[in-house]
Amino acid sequence: MSNNVFAEANAPYDEAQFVIYGVPFDGTSSFRAGSRWAPDAMRKASYNFETYIPEFDVDLEDVPTHDMGDCDTYVSVDETLEEVYCLTKGIVNAGKIPIMMGGEHSLTYPCVKAFPKGTGFVVLDAHLDLRPEYRGVKYNHACVSRHVIEELTDKYVSIGVRSGPREEWKFVRDHPEYRFYTSDDVCAKGIEAILQEIDIYLSGCDRIYLSLDMDAVDPSFAPGLGTPEPFGMTPRDVRSVIRHLAPLAAGFDVVEISPEYDCGEITSVLGAKLIRDFIAAKWKSMP
Ligand code: MN
Ligand code: MN
Repeated sequence: MSNNVFAEANAPYDEAQFVIYGVPFDGTSSFRAGSRWAPDAMRKASYNFETYIPEFDVDLEDVPTHDMGDCDTYVSVDETLEEVYCLTKGIVNAGKIPIMMGGEHSLTYPCVKAFPKGTGFVVLDAHLDLRPEYRGVKYNHACVSRHVIEELTDKYVSIGVRSGPREEWKFVRDHPEYRFYTSDDVCAKGIEAILQEIDIYLSGCDRIYLSLDMDAVDPSFAPGLGTPEPFGMTPRDVRSVIRHLAPLAAGFDVVEISPEYDCGEITSVLGAKLIRDFIAAKWKSMP
């Protein structure tokens, strides 16, 4: 367990509506590892901010949030994912909202699995992550969306994508029942128009799980990444997505930050800020 706690996440577990936890695991990361250091980097960065979020008239000191520390991790991917699943399932069954700080993107799969079938999935990512397996590992971070689509949801939206092999782009064309918005689409159409389309697409959904792979953001705004990909989204557009979808989201994660490559703490600060924005937007929408 970490000694460090995310700012204003001091409520006892039993009273908390939001439960934050880290998963310091980057075992399948292909290009540059190091996302294991991101949970504590975001915790540290979270003390940079005022507790009051003016856009929502919410003070995070008034929002019951608990940081339960870090999930146990193992050398084995499968064992680590099982541990994340059990921990997340416990939070979901207790009627609370899990906020997972990765670690790498493979960790999102067990978080989504902890929710009832029929939960929609919205992901912000530079990468399609649609491979059936990568380097012999099924639950590799490059495969997370494929397994979520095939095993966990019928409603899938991806925003900010701009990278993947030919077969993955063919998968996109072959599956018009899912929604893929590239970062160029976001630039051309504007995020508000895309959010309106997504609202219509998700109108039958009771709830979604929202996942932020930080490399959705352009690396000039978020240099501390495992797999940086230029021509990405602006932090403002990412924030618009999070604020807009938070009321429908029953769970959230921020993954793939690699603090070793961060220039100072730019990316960890952004990750911590977006978690705080998610909490404020979600809290404001709760009865
Ligand atoms: Mn990803
Ligand atoms: Mn990615």
